[in-house]
Amino acid sequence: HEFSGGQKQRIIIAMALSMGAKLIVADEPTTALDVTVQAEILQLLRDVRDAYGTSIILITHNMGVVADLADSVLVMYQGKVVERAWATELFASPRHDYTRKLLAAVPHLGDGHGQFGVAPKEVAAGAETALSVENLVVEYKRQGKKPFRAVDDVSFDVKRGEIVGLVGESGSGKSTIGRALLGLIPSHSGEVSVLGEDLLSIKGPQLKALRKRIGVIFQDPAASLNPRFPIGDVISEPLSVHKVGTPKERQARVHELLEAVQLPRSAYNRYPHELSGGQRQRVSIARALALQPDLLIADEPTSALDVSVQASVLAMFTELQRHFGFACLFISHDLAVIDSLAHRVVVMQYGKIVEAGTREDVLLNPQQEYTKRLLAAAPVPNPIEQRKRREERHALLESLGDRVVELDTRELL
Ligand code: ADP
Ligand code: MG
Repeated sequence: HEFSGGQKQRIIIAMALSMGAKLIVADEPTTALDVTVQAEILQLLRDVRDAYGTSIILITHNMGVVADLADSVLVMYQGKVVERAWATELFASPRHDYTRKLLAAVPHLGDGHGQFGVAPKEVAAGAETALSVENLVVEYKRQGKKPFRAVDDVSFDVKRGEIVGLVGESGSGKSTIGRALLGLIPSHSGEVSVLGEDLLSIKGPQLKALRKRIGVIFQDPAASLNPRFPIGDVISEPLSVHKVGTPKERQARVHELLEAVQLPRSAYNRYPHELSGGQRQRVSIARALALQPDLLIADEPTSALDVSVQASVLAMFTELQRHFGFACLFISHDLAVIDSLAHRVVVMQYGKIVEAGTREDVLLNPQQEYTKRLLAAAPVPNPIEQRKRREERHALLESLGDRVVELDTRELL
């Protein structure tokens, strides 16, 4: 418990090596890690292979990781191997239909808007500010210690019709900002206004009226949907809480929403556990949009989904945003996902904003060292491009005076 996730993963790799293993089976070795740590673990596995001639079976759902490390690839579908190829061949010319679909669904950093077929609309010049956050500070109380400052003097805004991507490694404070904006946790200081109204100071009916204009989607749809309610009730709950329409009108509205998120009418009477993860997330989105919010806060809305499901949900989400024109704070740790839909990007580290700007500026031409590191560590699903990116990352780290992970055999033995 005194080690970080990345350190624990190194210990496991050292254990495998201590027995002189000729083969390491690595089952999702980097799935729970941040991209920067992931890049180090992948480098360590590569060094192990080179130093000891160890073979590695890498089990992963992440095509960027495959592109970074694998020489050859087996693709499994419904319990069967459907394709086997050298990595460069597989990515360049996938033969099986499933592989093709899978690769088409993987977000690719640098491909920008519209990579899933739908691009968000340009934000109107002079658009009104939908959300404004100024000098926000959020602290968590700790027993016997001074409070932990999870969000430290953060300022940014979101215009009407704009999607702002909030990115950063785990623990950087992204969700804390989302929760503070929803009033789920108290803010220590700062100002938050939604459509010109001061969210942190208003109370009672005014607050309720303002809340009505803010929709929310969380990462885990299984946990955020009430399991005892059928889908129709889940989606219409915000309408009944805010006493919108007659029961009949509400029912009609739910059917409209089901159609908007591409779910069948029959979903109305089903329960959350009877739906797939992707369908459940569609329900969360329908519920979030029930009151036609002006502002949507989405915290990692596709991070728990498979890539092919994620791609269809992202396309649908962008379509809905085009249609309804809500402002959106889209929180994600996945830079490629943000690249596909955000107009502007805010990068966080240790509770502070390190860089903010347009998608092009931040993702294609980052100015801050941290943003450069973060971008360089994100693997792209293309082995040739990824090799080049890896070399560039090593050059970047060396120029910053970092030691690129290199296996010290004496240390290990
Ligand atoms: P992110 O969403 O960027 O991964 P979070 O906002 O969840 O990060 O967390 C930011 C920091 O606040 C982390 O260091 C985390 O450990 C801490 N934190 C989050 N929730 C709580 C809590 N309820 N009590 C104390 N500390 C918390
Ligand atoms: Mg989070």
